[in-house]
Order: sequence, then C-alpha cells, then structure tokens
Amino acid sequence: MADATDHEPTSLDLRTDVAHSARVYDYLLGGKDHYAADRAAAEEVVKVAPYMRTSMRASRNFMVRVARHLAIEGGVRQYLDIGTGLPTSPNLHEVVQSVDPAARVVYVDNDPIVLTHARALLTSTPEGRSRYIEADLSDPDAIITAREVRDTLDLTKPVALCLIAVIHFIHDDDEALRIVRRLMEPLPSGSYLALSTINLDSAARPVAAVKKHNEHGIKSKGRTTEQITRFFGGLDMVEPGIVPAHHWRPDDEARRIDDSQVSIYGGLGRKP
Ligand code: SAH
Repeated sequence: MADATDHEPTSLDLRTDVAHSARVYDYLLGGKDHYAADRAAAEEVVKVAPYMRTSMRASRNFMVRVARHLAIEGGVRQYLDIGTGLPTSPNLHEVVQSVDPAARVVYVDNDPIVLTHARALLTSTPEGRSRYIEADLSDPDAIITAREVRDTLDLTKPVALCLIAVIHFIHDDDEALRIVRRLMEPLPSGSYLALSTINLDSAARPVAAVKKHNEHGIKSKGRTTEQITRFFGGLDMVEPGIVPAHHWRPDDEARRIDDSQVSIYGGLGRKP
C-alpha cells in the first residue's frame, strides 16, 4: 500500500499496451486518459452494446446524486470511495465539499493509472480532506487498517462506503459479500453503503458486453437484482431501493434516459 505522495508517476509500469478498466471507463465517459488498447476495447464493447456510454454516464451521475443526498439529507461528512476511477468532474469530494467544505474523503483504487492522477483528487478544500491510497478491494482489511483511513476518518462517526461500478470486478459471490460486510463492519450506526453494479436482469441485457470486456482482460461479472440485494443485507434501504441507476432520485437528465440504455443498478442502504 502506498500514499500518492510516495510515488513518482514515471516509475510506474502503466501497461498501456493492454486495456485497463479505469481507462476504458474514462474513454466511454468522454475523458482524455486512455491509450489505443483502451479505445479499441471500448469500441468493441460499444459495437455489441451501443448503450454502454449512456449506462456508464448514468452510473456516474447516480454517484453524484447519492453523494449530494448523503451530504444534504443524511448529514454525512466522511466518505470511503473504493474503485474511484480517473478524476471526472465533479468528483465525490467536490460534490460533498460543496455542501460542507469540512467533508473528508478517502479514495481507493488499485490501478496505477489512477494513482498517477491522484494529485488531482487531492485538491481538497482547506477545511476538509481528501486522501488517496492504492489498495485492492479484494483485501478489505488492508483498506480498513490503512493509516490514511484511520488518520482521515473518525470511525466513531458515520461514514458512507461508496462502491460505485466496482464490485463486478470481484467474481466470487461469497467473496464479494464478505468484502462488503467486512468494510461495513467497523463503521458505526448511521453509516451508509452506496453501491452500483452491472445487473443481468436490466433492460439493457448486458451479457454480450460483459463477455466482450472479459475477452479484453477486464474481468467483470454481472449479477441479478436478487444477488445485488444481498449486498445490502442488514441495512435499511433508502427510497427508492435498488433500481436502474437513472431511476434513483432522478434529475431532468436522468428522466430522459430510456431503460434499455442502462445496465447498471444502484442503491443506498443505512446501517441501523
Ligand atoms: N467509481 C468510479 C469509477 C468506476 S470504474 C465511477 O463510478 O465513476 C472502476 C474502477 O474500479 C477503476 O478505476 C478500476 O481501476 C477500479 N478497480 C477495479 N478493480 C478494483 C479492485 N479490485 N480494487 C480497487 N479498485 C478496483
């Protein structure tokens, strides 16, 4: 595990010759941080799943609306965002610090390309904090015990754990459940889980897109609504429950999206 400030980007092997999920996602979102292999993989995905850009944008915008809801309605001031992705405006800390400049965010990702951009994620307000750590979702203990997490987040006060478009990279169902539970365990009552992931039952029917990602080494796994519901076990669901990403407390942009264009579902649960 490393702190962003410990690394010089030039010393990293970014493996620009193979597609990476963070860069493919960035390309589909219209970002600038991708290479030929990422663009080729993304275009192949779009060929079998023309809805992909809309779906990813819907998931990203779900994150923004959930974060705003948590900050305004939930009064949450601390966030642990795992599978952060490349900086895309507005980033989580920008959303929540616009509500309360003292809000604190710890970002976690395992992709070296995200690490090279971590400084862009570290532009916190002076009153708040945003930190970045390089770690893997498959090792939740390393995340929970990381110095940056302990130094930045007060675990006696509510924390929102954000797993946005990332749990589908953990294939084994029991393992994925164990990870989510382990991450929620040290968080006090009043904490939240915000999660979005590929839903096999969705109107977009994402099987072909998942297969294409896998062919390019981006091993993702879609789940059914029932399987996704299990991640929220023991939590009180916030209305409207687990729904297509654009159905979650939609704004005007989300209301215009057709269901057939979104393969990602999202939900928000509160720890009693
Ligand atoms: N949450 C962001 C980005 C989603 S893209 C958003 O919604 O906009 C998925 C991100 O998860 C990528 O940045 C990828 O690098 C990261 N990721 C994939 N597998 C991971 C793992 N096992 N541990 C940590 N991060 C992971």
